[in-house]
Amino acid sequence: MSAISDTILRLKDELPSDVELVAVSKFHPVDAIVEAYDAGQRLFGESRPQELHAKILSLQEMASGSPGSFSDIEWHFIGHLQTNKLKLVLPYVSLVESVDSLHLLQAIDRWGEANDRITDVLLEYHIASESSKQGFSREEILSLLCPDLQDTICSGSTVAASGQYEGRRYPHVRIRGLMGMATFTGDEAVVRADFARLMSLYDEIIALRDAGHCHEVGEDFNIRSFGMTHDYRIAVSMGADMVRIGTLIFGERA
Ligand SMILES: *Cc1c(COP(=O)(O)O)cnc(C)c1O
Repeated sequence: MSAISDTILRLKDELPSDVELVAVSKFHPVDAIVEAYDAGQRLFGESRPQELHAKILSLQEMASGSPGSFSDIEWHFIGHLQTNKLKLVLPYVSLVESVDSLHLLQAIDRWGEANDRITDVLLEYHIASESSKQGFSREEILSLLCPDLQDTICSGSTVAASGQYEGRRYPHVRIRGLMGMATFTGDEAVVRADFARLMSLYDEIIALRDAGHCHEVGEDFNIRSFGMTHDYRIAVSMGADMVRIGTLIFGERA
C-alpha cells in the first residue's frame, strides 16, 4: 500500500463521519491524485486555476480508455481567484472555498448569470494574525450578508422590516458558509483563538438569520471549513465541518 492511500484510509478512520475531507493536491502530480482516488478519496482541493484545469484535462484523457473513471471526482477551489480566471474554474468545481472580496463575489454572480449557473461559495474569513493572508473582516462579512442589519446599525432607523432587500443581491451564488486559516504557529492557544473567532462569527450569522436578518443567508448556510495538516485535529475538536489536508496526505510540496 502506498503512503498516500495509507494516509487517506487512516484519515477516513480518524475523522468523524460528518467531517468532510478535502484532499489538497496542489503542486502534486496527477498520479498522486489517482492514488488517492484508488483509496476511495473523491473530493480534492486545488488553489491555482491553470493547474486545476490541466489536471482535469489529463484525468479526462487517462479515463478515455475506461469510461466512467474519475468522473465522480469533486473539486473545490481553495486559492486566490482572479476574476479573469473564472472560466477555468467555475465550470468544474462544486465549491469555491476562498471568496475573499466583494469584487470576486460580484464577478462570480455575473458569470453565473451569463452562464445560467449558481455557484456554491464560502466566504474566507481573515482569522490569522498574519496580514499576508487573504480574507474578509468580521464587519465586512456581516455587512455583505446582512445589509439590512448594517443599515439599521448605521442610520439608527429600523429599515430592516421595510422589505427593501427582498430577494438576494447575488442570485447566482449560494453562500454556504465560512472558510478560514489559522496563524501559522506551533502555539496551540493562538490557533484555538483563531478558530474560535470563526466559530463565533458563524454562530452570530445563524442567530441573525434566524431572527430575520441576513438576506444573503439561507438554510443551506452550513459549512465551516477550517483545519489543515498542522491543525486539523484542533479544528475537528472545535466543530469544523470540513478540513483541507495536503502535506499529510501527499508529502511536502516542491
Ligand atoms: C495549501 C492549502 C491547504 C493545505 O495545507 P497543508 O498544510 O498542506 O495541509 C489548505 N487550505 C488552503 C487554503 C491551502 O491553500
